[in-house]
Amino acid sequence: MAQIQRRKSIVSKIGNVRVGGDVPVVVQSMTNTDTADVPGTILQVAQLARAGSELVRVTVNNDAAAKALPAIVEGLAKQNIYVPIIGDFHYNGHLLLTKYPDCAQALAKYRINPGNVSVGRKDDNNFRAMVEVAIKNNKPVRIGVNWGSLDQQLLTKMMDENSKSSEPKDARDVTMEAMVVSALRSAEIAEATGLPHDYILLSAKVSGVQDLIDVYRNLAGRCDYPLHLGLTEAGMGARGIVGSTAGLAVLLQEGIGDTIRVSLTPAPGGARTEEVLVAQQILQSLGMRSFTPQVTACPGCGRTTSTFFQELAEQIQTYLRESMPIWKSKYPGVEELKLAVMGCVVNGPGESKHANIGISLPGTFEEPKAPVFVDGRLMTTLKGDRIVAEFIDILNEYVDSRYGSGKTAEGVTVQA
Ligand code: SF4
Repeated sequence: MAQIQRRKSIVSKIGNVRVGGDVPVVVQSMTNTDTADVPGTILQVAQLARAGSELVRVTVNNDAAAKALPAIVEGLAKQNIYVPIIGDFHYNGHLLLTKYPDCAQALAKYRINPGNVSVGRKDDNNFRAMVEVAIKNNKPVRIGVNWGSLDQQLLTKMMDENSKSSEPKDARDVTMEAMVVSALRSAEIAEATGLPHDYILLSAKVSGVQDLIDVYRNLAGRCDYPLHLGLTEAGMGARGIVGSTAGLAVLLQEGIGDTIRVSLTPAPGGARTEEVLVAQQILQSLGMRSFTPQVTACPGCGRTTSTFFQELAEQIQTYLRESMPIWKSKYPGVEELKLAVMGCVVNGPGESKHANIGISLPGTFEEPKAPVFVDGRLMTTLKGDRIVAEFIDILNEYVDSRYGSGKTAEGVTVQA
């Protein structure tokens, strides 16, 4: 694992999951089902949890959703799924949490948006009401500021003060500062109400990468609460993935961030679990955590005109993904396995030697044979139309001998 110096934060406990301090960065996600749809929400939470989401947030936006919560948690427990469920509240959280005590108890954490919990009020009583429920039920809260719903009273006040200042700042800088102030001021109120210091997590989400980096650097320097990182409204496809990765990677590399969410808009009919896989891949690419064996594959070029090596890379990736649910418990440590699938002799043997198992396929005009390297040494050379099946046999044998209960110190037998 990469040695990244983490920012010093306190540790909070969310159900059975610890967040902050030296605990590895936790992956979380959010459902997009109607929470009142109990079977549909159970199904999606189960999918997210099985994909590796360690915390799952659901919206609690009305009476029906609040009433459904206990049944959702119970239904998951029947499937032996104990992922902590976080309730996402806006506007009416104080009403729902007090009206539905079973919901308040079933949730592992409450997300409070300070920008809209006390809309239209001059006091913080709605916010305090939610914190009091958290104290009564022994639950942590995330004070989640979002620039799309930033506390307008606070922002207006800070903008006014700024305009009167002898050296007024840019409006963008005032907005970023208002987000940090909103989070810290709300945390102060929560503690003054009686919520313990280590029951508070903070987030301040924006949709621009540079804004995200600035606001979290600022927040991280001014408190020791665990921070939930995420680019809000990241968008679809490559834009969402790249934007989230760009922002999160910079902050994580600086040791900022204790739990992450990648807020992708799924394509119609697309899997919600994609946001979990992307979050895991960000952490694994940075060398901070390992979730699944990694396949290094070359991009291909004019030296390999057939699609065979692309197909092999895809088949291996699919095989690994499908095998992992069983491998995870059967072969501890297998998530650290590295494979290489390369297109020709130029970088094929070299890259393959860096992997645990690597195959260098024949490029155009090369002799039709594929050397396989195991732990840096040539093990065998595959030929013919059973290359994929034979390579998977080698992979299975390696995994069993290296990570299985009867593992050998040397791994599989290697031929010179
Ligand atoms: S390894 Fe060969 S096929 Fe792959 S990108 Fe490099 S030169 Fe092209």
